[in-house]
Amino acid sequence: MIKMQSVRGTYDLYGEPKRKTKKVVSVGEKVVEKYGFEEIETPIFEFTEVFSRNLGDTSDIVTKEMYCFEDRGGESLTLRPEGTAGAIRAFISNGMQQNLPVKLYYHGPMFRYERPQKGRQRQFTQFGIELLGVETPQADIEVIAMAYEFLEKLGLQGAVLVEINSLGDSESRNAYREKLVGYLKEHFDELSPESRIRLERNPLRVLDSKEECDKKVVENAPLYSDSLNESSRAFFAKVLQGLDKLNIKYRINNRLVRGLDYYSHTVFELVTDKLGAQGTVLAGGRYDGLIEQMGGGKVAGIGWACGVERLAMLLDKGLESLRPIAVIPTGEDVEDEALLTSHSLRLAGFTVEMGYSGNLKKRMIKANKANACKAVIIGSDELTKGEVVIKDLDSGEQKNIKRDNLIEELQK
Ligand code: ATP
Ligand code: MG
Repeated sequence: MIKMQSVRGTYDLYGEPKRKTKKVVSVGEKVVEKYGFEEIETPIFEFTEVFSRNLGDTSDIVTKEMYCFEDRGGESLTLRPEGTAGAIRAFISNGMQQNLPVKLYYHGPMFRYERPQKGRQRQFTQFGIELLGVETPQADIEVIAMAYEFLEKLGLQGAVLVEINSLGDSESRNAYREKLVGYLKEHFDELSPESRIRLERNPLRVLDSKEECDKKVVENAPLYSDSLNESSRAFFAKVLQGLDKLNIKYRINNRLVRGLDYYSHTVFELVTDKLGAQGTVLAGGRYDGLIEQMGGGKVAGIGWACGVERLAMLLDKGLESLRPIAVIPTGEDVEDEALLTSHSLRLAGFTVEMGYSGNLKKRMIKANKANACKAVIIGSDELTKGEVVIKDLDSGEQKNIKRDNLIEELQK
């Protein structure tokens, strides 16, 4: 027997949950387009190396979450686990460096082999942006402002907090790494087996661990802010000043490092306490070294991505469609006329519900179920006089009007 169920960690989205994710994406698009971002659609799979070489070979994604497969030609391919690596790959493949800055946004499915739980799926949707070619703190301020406005427009400003930190430039990161390694070595015995490996290969990652024992050690770890050199400090101060000017509330979180290798300077997350352990709804940061590492020249970059389903779970209501107009024939003899009327109303831009069969009463019930605002009732007596009946389904009021004036009347 074929298993008639979706694969673990994947879901069929329809009805109100789908209307909610649709709202997240449509509000996101409206906001970022105001800032001049343009949509890019990249393939859902890439050569495995696009991810394995650029996300960092000790990241959770690369070590245990990627869906890799060999295609029939023997190529190693991977279903994209996130959007940045593919967007940068496209930026380089298409020679977009010629015209900086480049502002891209994307949305679509991402795939990670994780333990499914509330807010954590194996196929999920991200909406994200990348701003390429701007080195100044203005970029950091602008993309955070954009994320903030996005959540505000979704009505979530009260539910979400901006957390921010700076990882500084590479000199600062090296200085910090040294201090951190010293500290972690003193606490080696208390670390999880995974973090002992991280300590060797990428100690910063320990700060990002979700293991309780690691979290305890991390509590007293040296602070990142103490290792920032002067220029990194100045950069961060400018970002914060900008946020203050725009009245964007944030909290500096010294422990925030983000799970991927390529971040520098500003990192930030928008977090909520309403989703249990899966509290981060949007995350991003500056990745000035990534494009060069991928062979695209010295181009600065900053971006963020949000989990569309996680955000959708915070909404009270999904995208609302226009209330339809119900076209209702009173008998079989006028069904053709009803069909024609529906068609002409749709051509004029109205949403029309036809209630495909049944008597007047049944069709009225269907019209109410479809949340129609008005009914156009077509009867043979009225029709011989060239008239139809319009009924307001909220007030119950109804009147006869000339069939020829129908569209005009409905547009009122
Ligand atoms: P987490 O710490 O929750 O694992 P992450 O650091 O792996 O998150 P990112 O790679 O930064 O997440 O992805 C950005 C956003 O995408 C997250 O903040 C989250 O909202 C969403 N996201 C990430 N993984 C999943 C998943 N498996 N299911 C649903 N949403 C996800
Ligand atoms: Mg993760």
